[in-house]
Amino acid sequence: MCTMGNNCDSKYGKSLDDILSIKSSFISSNDELVKEREMQADILKSQKKRETCKICGSVLPSEHLFFTRDIPYFECSKCGHINSGYDDTEDFAAKLYIEQPYGSTYHEASRETYETRLKNIYTPKAEFMVETLKKEGLECEDIHLLDDGAGSGYFVEAASRLGCDAKGIEVSSTQVRFGNEMSGKENLTAVSGAEATQFVKDTKCNVISFIGVLEHITNLKDVIDAVRENENIKYVYCSVPMFSFSVIFEDVFRGCFNRQLGGGHTHLYTDSSLAYMADMMGFEKCASWKFGSDMMDLYRMLSVELEKNGNKGLNGVLHDKFLPLLNDMQLLVDKSEFASEIHMVLKRKDS
Ligand SMILES: [Zn+2]
Repeated sequence: MCTMGNNCDSKYGKSLDDILSIKSSFISSNDELVKEREMQADILKSQKKRETCKICGSVLPSEHLFFTRDIPYFECSKCGHINSGYDDTEDFAAKLYIEQPYGSTYHEASRETYETRLKNIYTPKAEFMVETLKKEGLECEDIHLLDDGAGSGYFVEAASRLGCDAKGIEVSSTQVRFGNEMSGKENLTAVSGAEATQFVKDTKCNVISFIGVLEHITNLKDVIDAVRENENIKYVYCSVPMFSFSVIFEDVFRGCFNRQLGGGHTHLYTDSSLAYMADMMGFEKCASWKFGSDMMDLYRMLSVELEKNGNKGLNGVLHDKFLPLLNDMQLLVDKSEFASEIHMVLKRKDS
């Protein structure tokens, strides 16, 4: 069921096979990742209390919805957004997102890894955007894309290879340098956080994308306002982490890496808070694609725990019996509207 009304297109599921090898590092590096998450949680807990909702600005209720890993989470009574009890201040962002030296990033990500990520993860996203916009009457050459928070430019390159005019902005100069080197183009520009908002205000592009970005933006309200006020922007493509089954699994398996609710994710979207945010932008849902990794997370956590128990035999059985069911189980979760990730194309409402 689409809770955002209108004539939106809803799509569910994506094979998890493509990301199996990428996610397997989450199992082998579990303890290091948990340690990093604990340090990040300590940084969050040292921030001031969050009093208002990250999306709609309403005062948060006095009672939390749940507590996990020493952090309370509040459900906004107005828009339904899930907010941590501590604020993601500028200080939090500065301490969390530390620039990695260029050399280390470059050597880890070889040409082959770059092409695999591009093909398996970013090209399907770019195709979903292009197919949706085609139904709206836009051909690839009509798509002028600004990707905000472009990272190493995977999405920009994927859209570009499909024939779109695509550019990206990114705060990490390391990733910009790497991305431009890999693509052989100068499509990525390094900007500061404040410059990024100004780019959104000034862009002539008709499509703007935020892929796994909105949840990390400290001045989110300013960015939402900038999108609404720049009428050149007709479509927004975004993907965000959702309040979902993964959050529950993460609380049960506390010795396992909490990918969904931890680190830079201090708040999570729900269908209703997404609809609220789209409305604040002056946009409405055009199409959505839900494909989470809840069941992959569950598999990973079961596997980590079995390994910790020294039960290699049962871990092997889990591998043989669970993995073949993974895609079917995740599809069921995706259709339940409680999956860990959503991709959406939003369209500016007719004024
Ligand atoms: Zn709210």
